[in-house]
Amino acid sequence: MKTIIIGNGIIGLTTALRLALKAKTGDKIVIVGKKTRPYSATNAAAAMLNSFCEIEADTFKNEIDSIRFGMSYQATKMWPGFVLEHLEVAMGHNCLLAECRTCMGPKGACYELGTYLINNCSADSLDDANYNAVLKALKDFYEPYEEIDPVDIPNYMPQARHRASKAVYIHNEGWLNPKLTLLSIEASLLGFSCVSFVDEEVETINESGRSIASVTLKNKSIIEGDKFLLATGASASKIIDNSNLSISIPKIFNGVGVSIQIKSPEYPHSKAIRTPNRGLACGLYTVPFYSSPDVPLNELIIGSSSFVTPFTIEGARVGSVQSLLQGAMEQINTNFYKAEISCINLGYRPVSADTYPVFGKTSINNLFICTGTKRDGFHLSPLLSDLMCKLILGDEIDPQYNVFAPERSLIKTYTREEAIEASVKHLMSASYQHGFVPSHDKLHEKIKQMHRDELETLHDKVGAFEWGISPELLELYRYGHISS
Ligand SMILES: Cc1cc2nc3c(=O)[nH]c(=O)nc-3n(C[C@H](O)[C@H](O)[C@H](O)COP(=O)(O)OP(=O)(O)OC[C@H]3O[C@@H](n4cnc5c(N)ncnc54)[C@H](O)[C@@H]3O)c2cc1C
Repeated sequence: MKTIIIGNGIIGLTTALRLALKAKTGDKIVIVGKKTRPYSATNAAAAMLNSFCEIEADTFKNEIDSIRFGMSYQATKMWPGFVLEHLEVAMGHNCLLAECRTCMGPKGACYELGTYLINNCSADSLDDANYNAVLKALKDFYEPYEEIDPVDIPNYMPQARHRASKAVYIHNEGWLNPKLTLLSIEASLLGFSCVSFVDEEVETINESGRSIASVTLKNKSIIEGDKFLLATGASASKIIDNSNLSISIPKIFNGVGVSIQIKSPEYPHSKAIRTPNRGLACGLYTVPFYSSPDVPLNELIIGSSSFVTPFTIEGARVGSVQSLLQGAMEQINTNFYKAEISCINLGYRPVSADTYPVFGKTSINNLFICTGTKRDGFHLSPLLSDLMCKLILGDEIDPQYNVFAPERSLIKTYTREEAIEASVKHLMSASYQHGFVPSHDKLHEKIKQMHRDELETLHDKVGAFEWGISPELLELYRYGHISS
């Protein structure tokens, strides 16, 4: 069997690794994607492996969000074994990267556990609601954690007015160096004789009689195959549209995100420090960024900005960079003013038209799709790669995941009233994150009412009477990029 993996981000590579481990004599796996990975989300990720820290006040409001949290929780448990398995493959093939040579999996270097979640007053009360929801879930799930005094967090030295009043240490939430992880999985894959890489982009996927026969690359060469996985992240819809395929999936947009790597040798982090999710984004964080055993633990990654658009954004916006750097200096460590910027990353998170992941088998016999992972695709990759590998090999997966099948209708979990209230909260939180200071004449309440009125009008305009627009998608509905 010849499997063509279209896309070389974390989803494509981890699925290829699982397939390679199960390959039989004569099987072939071809991974197509530019070596430079333009706009890859994985390259820009932190990459935090958070599930509890991502919980929001309404996370458990319905079954679909509960399934999604269940996936994240399961992925957390899979990571330690997945890291070790991948390192063993690399060692077995004698292709362990020099940077990975001291990695002890769960005890080591590029992969570490331990996150401090802080609750400060830099944004607004949405932080408190989400922080309290995280604490409740930690208790409900018997997850190990410790409530601590924020002053005890190593290298946490915020400005006085931005100091946290509460913090919790979560033992099992970790992170990896995403760039190193991609390189080391790539190196492991090269050790399999059945695996090959093609440094090009796919232009079209060629359908013939409800099956895919081949892909045409941008250089016009054609690669034939038996099974095809579309895992190109944010560009998945563009490829489907270019190819005139007989299927349609929830449109995938560019969730443009910026993260910043800094060198701060006097204040090295050994643990992640982050806020709860905030309005329209994941809040502010600083995460250790391990480079190699030869480099002291002196880099960090600050993240991350977010806006969702159908358009191409070539470079990091000044406003995103400014607000991340200001946030890190004010809310995490004032001494970052003298840190050096080593890299500004820009990546496109794959955000679907209903914000939920899009994965599974399609009605085209041999086409599989995995995208729409938004801001936790790195974390979900051990689970998603396992599910995709099973599907490609013809095995069954848990039917609960059918809700995220590629050819579904848009998932609508909000009522109109819930969505409007949630959006007002998100929009106010976003304003406070970006420096809004209301005057003392109830301006705060007046602006909330203004948002509410505008959101009612928007819901009327798009015909959202029985359902509501997710806060992250407001702009897309406002400008007609999603039709209900
Ligand atoms: C700033 C930022 C911070 C993030 N932080 C986290 C985090 O802390 N934790 C977490 O779990 N997730 C995080 N994410 C989200 C995570 O990065 C994504 O969910 C995940 O990486 C998606 O992986 P992917 O393989 O689907 O897509 P990608 O990583 O985007 O990979 C797709 C690949 O396909 C290639 N490609 C595109 N078009 C074609 C084509 N036509 N032919 C062939 N190849 C093509 C691309 O170049 C790319 O290399 C973050 C994302 C961003 C942007």
